[in-house]
Amino acid sequence: MKHFFQSLVSWWFAAMTPAHVPETTLAERENIRKRRLLSIILLVSIAVAIIYLALDFRLKNLSLAQALTFFAVISVLGGALWLNRQGYLKLASLIFFFSNGAAFVQGVHVASSADPFLLFWICFLSTAFLVMQGLFLSAWLLILLAVIEYLTIIWYLLVLNHALVIHLLSPVALQDFLFFLTIMIYDSALVSIIYSITTKKAVIQADRASELEQANAKLEEAYTTIQRQALTDGLTGLPNHRAVMDQLQKEMDRARRYNRPFSVLFFDGDRFKKVNDTYGHAVGDTVLYQIGAYAGSELRGGDTLGRFGGEEFVVLLPEAAAHEAAVIAERIRAAVAARPVPTTEVEGGVAMTVSIGLATYPSDGTSEEELLAQADAAMYVAKRLGRNQVRTAEEARHMSTDVELVALLHHEGQRDAAEREGITPEQVCETYTLRAICSLTNLLERRDVGLSAHAHAVSDLATAIASAMRLDPREVSRIGMAALLHDIGKIAMPDALLQQSAPLSSQERVLLHEHAEVGAQILEASPFLCDLIPMVRHHHERWDGSGYPEHLRGKDIPLEARIIAVAEAYDAMQREHPYHTGFSLERTLAELRQGAGTQFDPEVVHVLLALLAKQPETIASMKVVR
Ligand code: GH3
Ligand code: MG
Ligand code: MG
Repeated sequence: MKHFFQSLVSWWFAAMTPAHVPETTLAERENIRKRRLLSIILLVSIAVAIIYLALDFRLKNLSLAQALTFFAVISVLGGALWLNRQGYLKLASLIFFFSNGAAFVQGVHVASSADPFLLFWICFLSTAFLVMQGLFLSAWLLILLAVIEYLTIIWYLLVLNHALVIHLLSPVALQDFLFFLTIMIYDSALVSIIYSITTKKAVIQADRASELEQANAKLEEAYTTIQRQALTDGLTGLPNHRAVMDQLQKEMDRARRYNRPFSVLFFDGDRFKKVNDTYGHAVGDTVLYQIGAYAGSELRGGDTLGRFGGEEFVVLLPEAAAHEAAVIAERIRAAVAARPVPTTEVEGGVAMTVSIGLATYPSDGTSEEELLAQADAAMYVAKRLGRNQVRTAEEARHMSTDVELVALLHHEGQRDAAEREGITPEQVCETYTLRAICSLTNLLERRDVGLSAHAHAVSDLATAIASAMRLDPREVSRIGMAALLHDIGKIAMPDALLQQSAPLSSQERVLLHEHAEVGAQILEASPFLCDLIPMVRHHHERWDGSGYPEHLRGKDIPLEARIIAVAEAYDAMQREHPYHTGFSLERTLAELRQGAGTQFDPEVVHVLLALLAKQPETIASMKVVR
């Protein structure tokens, strides 16, 4: 019951809600509750009408016309109930009003003929009824309905039943008339007071609701803005680190799911600190913004460009394989390099370049972190090779295996731009290898001219044997280099030992044998010569396992070392030494044949003999002292 009254009061408030309040969830909710209440009222009305009809039927004083009227009223109320359930609240309310109005008018007519004062009670009830209608209808409609209802009653009294009015105004009834008139006035006043109070409350509530809704809308707007800001870089307006990482994850998931290629570019402004230092941070900011704009203008529809931090940017290129990504990266690089960033502070603008690293899923990495790290490493290499260029993760892997190499590349990066143009990592590597070999052979030459000539001759011969054995050209070249350095360990041997003409004592022999190991140790010092170490260390091993330093036998000895061993033996036997004169070619060949299978790899000896048979002059010229 308490709930019923509570909801009745809330309906009242809701009914007083001004029309300008927008249709919100709140308003819609109220509408549904009103429809429920009207349904209850209609059902109660139908029930009362049926009970009344049943009572009248039992008393048997019901005329056919009255019965039909009641049936009509019940049907109309039922119709209103159906309309209300269909959502036509106002229409149902109006029908309810008119059917009740008709019932009242009939009631006034019937009752007033018996007792004129019943008229006032009915007027009182109809006022209460109108107030109830206020729950469902707007105020202006309510006033209109009230006017219609009272005009009908007045018309009835004045035109159809004026005798009743005369009776009411007679001295006998006047006192009662005034009494009821007072009650009517108080009743109206009371209703007005309740009406105004509740209207005020309803307006305040509605205002609050509307304010709340507006505040909520603003809050939602602010939330969207904050969320957007949280993912946007303030300076460039591009997605920030977090947004880039989120997007990267999504793109990687997609690439993995559909097994599609996906590339990441990582780029960084070159010598950007200098821009800040020379022109100030404000210009630096403009340049950063513009780098973003230039890069953005080179991208395709679904690509994402974001600021990763500082002056580092990341580009996500879905569906781009490495070669396509390289084209886009090059476009970005060229776009930035081609147009100096215009600023009011610097005439002609600030010239800027970027270094770009590129990594592709799945060849360079299968996780987000891996791909980013690879692109970053590639960018690092691009920087080291002189900036303003694009480098791939594959190139970077090639180089970054060796820290020292990277350090040298760093040094390389310091050289003039003109010198660096078009240089590849392989070229840099080769240059440094050759440089290291040259400096070591120079050293050898200074130490002992004979040693140097022998080294060159062995290198040429070993190269010829390796080529004849159809080894890979890179391998042939490595054998040539190793042969050049095979005796490099001898630079650590005392002069007396190297130039001694008398046969060596066993102690001296042990010392001399160390040159293979010492040579290997010398090569260990340079990252460019590391892969030559086994060839140098084992060039004195023997096929039967009686060599040094590790007594390897047969094919356990690296093939390169076996080739160098044969080439060295051949040149050593042919060459004049302080301790013996050179052998003739025949004797040399005989020694080689004899040593095949014990000292030498028989196959290598066979190849050399075949070579000598084919081009004896070429081989003979190899021992010419340089
Ligand atoms: P490198 O070619 O090796 O990249 O040289 P660099 O001078 O660009 O070196 P580095 O990338 O380490 O320098 C980054 C500089 O970028 C340092 C910092 O002062 C500047 N920087 C980072 N963020 C901002 C920024 O938002 N605005 C400005 N104006 N400068 C920034
Ligand atoms: Mg930089
Ligand atoms: Mg940087």
